[in-house]
Amino acid sequence: MKIVEEKSRLQRKTHPVSLEEGLELGEKLLAFIEERGDAIGIAANQVGINKKVCVVNVIKPLILINPEVTGQFGIVKYTEACLSFPDQQIKTTRHTNIIVKDDNYGTVIYRPKDAEHLLEIVCIQHEIDHLNGLTMHDRRFAYTEKAAMIYTGGKNGEEETK
Ligand SMILES: [Zn+2]
Repeated sequence: MKIVEEKSRLQRKTHPVSLEEGLELGEKLLAFIEERGDAIGIAANQVGINKKVCVVNVIKPLILINPEVTGQFGIVKYTEACLSFPDQQIKTTRHTNIIVKDDNYGTVIYRPKDAEHLLEIVCIQHEIDHLNGLTMHDRRFAYTEKAAMIYTGGKNGEEETK
């Protein structure tokens, strides 16, 4: 598997898969990042497979199949890296709590119990973004958000920052 680094290719539409196909592809993606040893997640379209499957391996290996973020709140500033943009580190704005619906685990609420869980939550958002054609550059921390976070002490919910 070769990593896609062209933004135009990363923006291509991805297609839903069956649970069976998703699990098979997910296992391959997990094996791929395990072998590399330098990644905590990857989306199928990052290796040129435009299907709605991504994996995350922070606390335990997760295979997300046709995932959708159905709820999100809490704001955190984070620093992210991406296999598709080697040597780049981007400051982003992410949600601290998310609700994700996918065909493997059903609907799951992810809460930031500790730093490791927050890393997992940010990674899940990063990988699901990939499946929707978005990259960490689209979540870049902006000055206006900085002003909003200072104003509310950084504990603002999604609706307050719009
Ligand atoms: Zn990425």
